[in-house]
Amino acid sequence: MSDAPHPMIQSEFDLIQTYFAALGPHREDVDLGVGDDCALLRPPPNRLLAQTQDTLAEGVHFAVGADPEALGHKALAVNLSDLAAMGAEPAWFSLGLTLPQADTAWVAAFAHGMAVLARAHGVRLVGGDTTRGPRSISIHAQGFVAAGRELRRSRARPGDLVYVSGTLGDAALGLMQQQGEWDGGAQHAALAERLHRPEPRVLLGRRLGGVAHAAIDLSDGLAADLGHICTASGVGARFELGRLPLSAAGRAYLAVTGDWMPFIAGGDDYELCFTLDPALEREAAAICRAAGCVCRHVGEVVAGDGVHCIAPDGAELSLARGGYEHFSG
Ligand code: ADP
Ligand code: MG
Repeated sequence: MSDAPHPMIQSEFDLIQTYFAALGPHREDVDLGVGDDCALLRPPPNRLLAQTQDTLAEGVHFAVGADPEALGHKALAVNLSDLAAMGAEPAWFSLGLTLPQADTAWVAAFAHGMAVLARAHGVRLVGGDTTRGPRSISIHAQGFVAAGRELRRSRARPGDLVYVSGTLGDAALGLMQQQGEWDGGAQHAALAERLHRPEPRVLLGRRLGGVAHAAIDLSDGLAADLGHICTASGVGARFELGRLPLSAAGRAYLAVTGDWMPFIAGGDDYELCFTLDPALEREAAAICRAAGCVCRHVGEVVAGDGVHCIAPDGAELSLARGGYEHFSG
């Protein structure tokens, strides 16, 4: 915190040295990491550098008093999820951290949550900036992908199958539970985990590179994010409610409320949605198994535009923006 009063400077410098100078595994392609004016990095010569940034702000993306260890995980996870959705192999990240005060216990827990995920994915923290202000975390992550194997949003084709990984709506139900709008009962812990500790589908994304036509990570809900693929590709898509993968918690919610909205429009799941030539269905199934993910065929890419949601009785439901009322039971 360069704008901190003088007596704080040393301790905040120490905080960075203690918790951020060696976060993540050693990498040969990091010539110089945390500590100088810039990091010095060696991108591989024959691959594209994939780059992304995501910010979490207190009161917007996480609640006041949120568990710092989970926040450290999630802040990195959402960035790794972007790299996954591009088919990229994560390599490095930098951390812009804004804190109301230098709180050692908070930083220690935050750095631990981040470090565990960083090690799991082989990514190294190579720099950042620490400032004083309302709590927010902004991460900038880089990865590599061979040209031609990247998963762009713009390459879906009519006739492609639409797939999603994992289960949908759990993070939205976790948020409703946190806000007292839904009681997950026996699934309480599972829903909280899905909201606070998303697992980026990095291996799945990398293996789908060069196989899937288009991909996106589900941060805003299936309807909206599949819509981004459609817009970028100049196509339409349809998905069937009856095909959507629901967890036990999701099925319990649906049985009680009849409300499909968390599954269609719930954010923060960080699963992958991808489109695939039907001829590659078997290959994709093998890839998903090898990546440890269950992936489900939920619909098709069609000529035209827009995302069309098909109810179990075959009727098309309107997906008008803000159209929650169409779905609540
Ligand atoms: P400068 O004023 O030259 O930008 P800083 O004092 O901000 O330097 O940072 C010193 C070093 O610590 C730099 O290498 C910077 O990348 C690193 N750094 C600062 N904050 C963080 C952080 N939150 N996470 C990782 N590295 C950080
Ligand atoms: Mg600085």
